[in-house]
Amino acid sequence: MPARTTREEARARILAAFEAQLDRVIPVDETVSLKGATFADFEDQVETLAQAALPVALEERSALADSAQVEQAGPCPHCGSEGVYLEKEETQPEVHSRHGPVVVHKQHSRCRSCGGSFSPSGA
Ligand SMILES: [Zn+2]
Repeated sequence: MPARTTREEARARILAAFEAQLDRVIPVDETVSLKGATFADFEDQVETLAQAALPVALEERSALADSAQVEQAGPCPHCGSEGVYLEKEETQPEVHSRHGPVVVHKQHSRCRSCGGSFSPSGA
């Protein structure tokens, strides 16, 4: 049951997403004025940062789970048959997290005995 990415790739993507948002709130260039004037403005800016960067962290953490991608479907949860296969096509449903929408990879399996379908991946 492998992960879908490496820690190094995951960290790089998370840091890039965070840095891109941070550049909008606190640009490194001292000649660029900071936006906003009140605490509420700052709160909005940081909330925007969080909603853009934190879902990336959640997507990457999910992709690192041991169960992010299975190689075998396991028994059918409907009838218990072992005659199950993984479908080649995966879907990428959008899941709602605390910090906004997150896209996850989802595998699908089908049972040869009862025709039932299910998702084998735990992550
Ligand atoms: Zn079945």
